[in-house]
Amino acid sequence: MKLIAVDAGHGMNTAGKRTPMFSDGTIMKENEFNRATADYLVKALNRNGFKTILTAPDILDTPLQKRVQRANDAKADAFICIHANAYGDDWNNANGIESWIYEKSNQNTIHFAEDIQKELIAFTNRKNRGIKKSSDLYVLRTTNMMAVLVECGFLTNLEEATLLRSEKYRKECAEGICKGICKYYNMPYKLEQQDDNTEKKELYCCEKRYQNVNQLPYGKEVIQMLIDKGILKGNEKGDLDLTLDMVRLFMILDRIDAFEKIK
Ligand SMILES: [Zn+2]
Repeated sequence: MKLIAVDAGHGMNTAGKRTPMFSDGTIMKENEFNRATADYLVKALNRNGFKTILTAPDILDTPLQKRVQRANDAKADAFICIHANAYGDDWNNANGIESWIYEKSNQNTIHFAEDIQKELIAFTNRKNRGIKKSSDLYVLRTTNMMAVLVECGFLTNLEEATLLRSEKYRKECAEGICKGICKYYNMPYKLEQQDDNTEKKELYCCEKRYQNVNQLPYGKEVIQMLIDKGILKGNEKGDLDLTLDMVRLFMILDRIDAFEKIK
């Protein structure tokens, strides 16, 4: 099982990393986006058969050295660092998503970054700013495994900042990154909705069922009559497997004399 180190860039106290002021007087710190998206990514990866570690699980600022050390010590197979971009201090038009890798990265890391960048764009529909190479980003330079830093949109672009604040967009980013990672490792990507459906099905299936007449809180007479007449037989073990909705329906039918012919 592959182990993915997930790094939520910065901490809540990191100076400067924030949106300009929204018209409602609020701001969003970059770490709010990074942390929420990292949490969604961990869930998505676990759902898809990956092990994960968070390199900065505390709300306080975790030094870069500590983040890298955690990933290296855990012998993670890959390191993914989540950020949001900024251009200047005020609202402007710079926009889009880019992924960063170390300039001396091998071919595997390049492919890894390409798969992630491609799916991030597919899930979010933002402008593709491509893969960029850096000589000095600490977490990319000092990690022992494939490492990619994603910039998921601009804090200084009003449209993107509004997205970066929304749980929907954070989830889209996380699912895009997860699908890219699945693709790189040739693993099938499972959508979150598939899990939701399973849960709904289970809920439906878990409605209480009654296996014999004695268990029923009401409707015993009509059910016993239907058994006596050979209409209700249950399964091969004789279990009736009735829900109360079914019992009530039989009672209603009995009230309108639907069973007169067989009585
Ligand atoms: Zn950042």
